[in-house]
Amino acid sequence: MPDPRRVRLLIVGSGPAGYTAAIYAARAMLAPVLVQGLEPGGQLTTTTEVENWPGDESVQGPDLMARMESHARAMGTEIVMDIVSRLDLSRRPFRAETDGGLVLLADAVILATGARAKWLGLPSEERLKGFGVSACATCDGFFFRGKEIAVIGGGNTAVEEALFLTNFATRVTLIHRRDSLRAEKILQDRLFRHPKIEVIWNHTVEEVLGESAVEGLRLRHVATGEERILPCQGAFVAIGHAPASDLVAGQLELHNGGYVKVEPGSTRTSVPGVFAAGDLTDHVYRQAVTSAGMGCMAALDAERWLAAGPESAVGETVSQTRDPSPALSHY
Ligand code: FAD
Ligand code: NAP
Repeated sequence: MPDPRRVRLLIVGSGPAGYTAAIYAARAMLAPVLVQGLEPGGQLTTTTEVENWPGDESVQGPDLMARMESHARAMGTEIVMDIVSRLDLSRRPFRAETDGGLVLLADAVILATGARAKWLGLPSEERLKGFGVSACATCDGFFFRGKEIAVIGGGNTAVEEALFLTNFATRVTLIHRRDSLRAEKILQDRLFRHPKIEVIWNHTVEEVLGESAVEGLRLRHVATGEERILPCQGAFVAIGHAPASDLVAGQLELHNGGYVKVEPGSTRTSVPGVFAAGDLTDHVYRQAVTSAGMGCMAALDAERWLAAGPESAVGETVSQTRDPSPALSHY
């Protein structure tokens, strides 16, 4: 294992929260090191048009995230293409190990690991992932040209995926477990008006049918229990996301099903010196702009905490002298 590297501020995650934190932290001369994770650019790289990012009437998600990355880099962030596999928040400096074998010792940490797609949890879904079952229309829609597709879910993601998939499919069927959608009204209007889209209300998916590729779905009516078969060659699961808090489970206070708890009005977690931003902490808004806003808050909170010095570490021993230099130093 290589020698540990001492960093002033470690940012974990490269979505809107992570990159915004990096821009602010770099401009505060904290020389942040940002580890990108498995999905550089985060969730927005899995979508097409983003129409609610202020200043852009319409921007492609991957383009927006590429711009954020180069902005963060230009301001002086060191961006590392790797995954943080272990994070020890029990002593200072905090210690992060990556899949690539890097060991980082950080005075402060901003967690911005976002959220991951949820799955229905059916064995047939698991077996046919990559063979017609997907959670990313942008990634896989192209493979379903001229085919019939089902989308499962009733939120913004499901509706956007259904609309996007009409570019490829002959027919898109949205399956929702209730009789109303939680998606924004403007998206619902587009969905209901689209000639290629049909909605099946009040049904759950019981099984994905097919041996080596998706051939259909077995659906069940939530009230009557009546079953029906929907023939289709693609099944896109769009039932939301779960916070990516595994790295810190048992180390930080979590709430609402795994979201990192922060002090209201701040990004301070239950461990002083550790800050959290974006979808990882937010079960309510979960937007690019709110994540970016929280990234900004986290950088400002971290900057103030670092500037205040070791006495900020309430109830904890600071085991290393803080390095006042903004540059990376090596052990
Ligand atoms: P994420 O974007 O989830 O990024 C998390 C980052 O953490 C990733 O880079 C990942 O690689 C990294 N990471 C995770 N674990 C580790 C680890 N162990 N080590 C290192 N890095 C790690 N919002 C809008 O405002 N407008 C939209 O139009 C819109 N469209 C959307 C369309 C889709 C299909 C989806 C799924 C979401 C959409 N959203 C939209 C929501 C928006 O994408 C999220 O709110 C936003 O991306 C959250 O940003 P984040 O920075 O908190 O996390
Ligand atoms: P979401 O809003 O949590 O919606 C998830 C949907 O899936 C709900 O309709 C839910 O049903 C359904 N569902 C959950 N578990 C299910 C299960 N096991 N079986 C069947 N259905 C299930 O998730 P999302 O649509 O991914 O959106 C996440 C966040 O990103 C939201 O805050 C959203 O606003 C944001 N986002 C924004 C945009 C945009 O602004 N254009 C685009 C995409 C996403 P119920 O309704 O019955 O609970």
